Amino acid sequence: MLDKPFDKINKDSSPLIDPFGRAISYLRVSLTDRCDFRCVYCMAENMTFLPKADVLSLEEIETLCASFINLGTKKIRLTGGEPLVRKNVLTLIKSLGSKIGSGLEELTLTTNGSQLSRFSEQLYDYGVRRVNVSIDTLNPELFKKITRWGDLEKVLNGLKSATRAGLKCKINAVALKGVNENELQSMIEWAHNEGHDFTVIETMPMGEITEDRTDQYLPLSMVRAKLREKFTLTESEYKTGGPARYVKIEETGGRLGFITPLTHNFCESCNRVRLTCTGMLYMCLGQDDSANLRKELQQGKTGIELEEAIREAISRKPKGHDFEISRRSSGPAVKRHMSVTGG
Ligand code: SAM
Ligand code: SF4
Repeated sequence: MLDKPFDKINKDSSPLIDPFGRAISYLRVSLTDRCDFRCVYCMAENMTFLPKADVLSLEEIETLCASFINLGTKKIRLTGGEPLVRKNVLTLIKSLGSKIGSGLEELTLTTNGSQLSRFSEQLYDYGVRRVNVSIDTLNPELFKKITRWGDLEKVLNGLKSATRAGLKCKINAVALKGVNENELQSMIEWAHNEGHDFTVIETMPMGEITEDRTDQYLPLSMVRAKLREKFTLTESEYKTGGPARYVKIEETGGRLGFITPLTHNFCESCNRVRLTCTGMLYMCLGQDDSANLRKELQQGKTGIELEEAIREAISRKPKGHDFEISRRSSGPAVKRHMSVTGG
């Protein structure tokens, strides 16, 4: 049923190049703004989610992905909200996975891990080979405090299922001042010992939350300095197509990534755009300019017409964001939550 959009592929399309000469080959797609967790840095506990009628159908998401693949997208990352709580998500994953090797090179997911015990084997069968699993602490009580609704044991069981199924898992942790700051070192040792890469993320000022972001913000320059006291960090050229910069930790032999939107702007090599579950294409995570691709679909545009709309949007991709967490009184840099744009 979901095969149709790919029939309309125009083989002559030239790839997407933005005004700064960056080839856009990486699409992140937020499948839903909903989530079974309520992480303190990401959402308010009493979040109001989008009405279902505003959310793209899986067929619409697939049509848009097909256009992007035709325009040179090599990598698609499904995210959210929690992508694996979207109803019938496997139908979309199966269909997108069937395009690996025909333009698409990689289909990945960022997940909180809560559903991995259920889905890992099928994810592998449908072509997913790598997933990012977000775990900010290995302390069950603290995990509950950070995620509000999450259960660490369930996530760790999910991670084991994923590994057993053959998925390469990278652990993502947001660095939170005074929360998991002293645990990052032991988490890295644990992850590397289990065979997982590990990435630390700086908190980004996105969306209104209950907490004060200046209280949460921990610059990764400080994390790096602290880790240096314990580990030998060797710069690495390793790249996954995402924004992380990697080092090798000599003592563990594992890789450690840093995503540093605030202390080190990663925009110059940005190859990404983001599609929200409502069909808005954001050319930059940290800017408000967008293109309403759902409207184009509703006007009946497909094939070349839809691709033209995407090209027009890419011609507006800005040079970079200007996130800043400085004054206590200042609100978020962008009003939408990370769960809307997709992390
Ligand atoms: N629910 C999935 C998960 O948690 O992995 C996917 C969506 S989540 C928005 C993607 C990533 O963004 C997670 O690793 C999460 O920790 C991170 N994140 C959420 N809000 C953030 C913020 N304000 N600053 C930095 N990272 C954030
Ligand atoms: Fe949900 Fe992921 Fe946001 Fe946590 S970070 S609330 S798991 S979307």
